[in-house]
Amino acid sequence: MGEQVVKMGITSIFKKMLIGRAFTTEKGRIKMFGEMDWTLYPSRGLAHFFQTIGEKLGEDYLYNLSYKNGKFNGKDMVKAMKLKLEGGWITQKAITSLLDFLGYGKIEFIRLKTGPGNHHHFIIHSSENPIVEHAIKMYGKKEMACTYWRGLLAGHGEVELGIKGSNLMEKKCISEGAERCIFESRR
Ligand SMILES: [Zn+2]
Repeated sequence: MGEQVVKMGITSIFKKMLIGRAFTTEKGRIKMFGEMDWTLYPSRGLAHFFQTIGEKLGEDYLYNLSYKNGKFNGKDMVKAMKLKLEGGWITQKAITSLLDFLGYGKIEFIRLKTGPGNHHHFIIHSSENPIVEHAIKMYGKKEMACTYWRGLLAGHGEVELGIKGSNLMEKKCISEGAERCIFESRR
């Protein structure tokens, strides 16, 4: 109960901070916290990008590509926000608040267990992601946006929570009628 209140408080603090001053424009560039370059891109077009990559080069290729992206994006975001790498739930909450603010929908880390070596168990709930929603409208159950998203979240999990060797699998998907996409990694 107490921890939950603290977490909610932190989330709203991050949201306020983000909305207030995370992004500025300087000379035609969008900068996050004055140092990280960003580019807005329409969601439907991105859904088409990921679909084409996944269909031409395979799901594993797309997963690994977005996993690497999640890692370096995460590192740059953690640095720009002056958070700690592998900083645990505060770092993770800040980044998921940022992703929410950026229009990636609702992301929740439901369970987290890390043990010795690379042992871990974590579940992520994801919904209201516009890239996924456009992908489902265009490609139905064959959509690849969730593969991209799965890789990206695995990369973020490594940077923010220190989860090594994750193999995030999608257990339930909105494209198959589920209320939310559910990703899980256990080892
Ligand atoms: Zn999905």
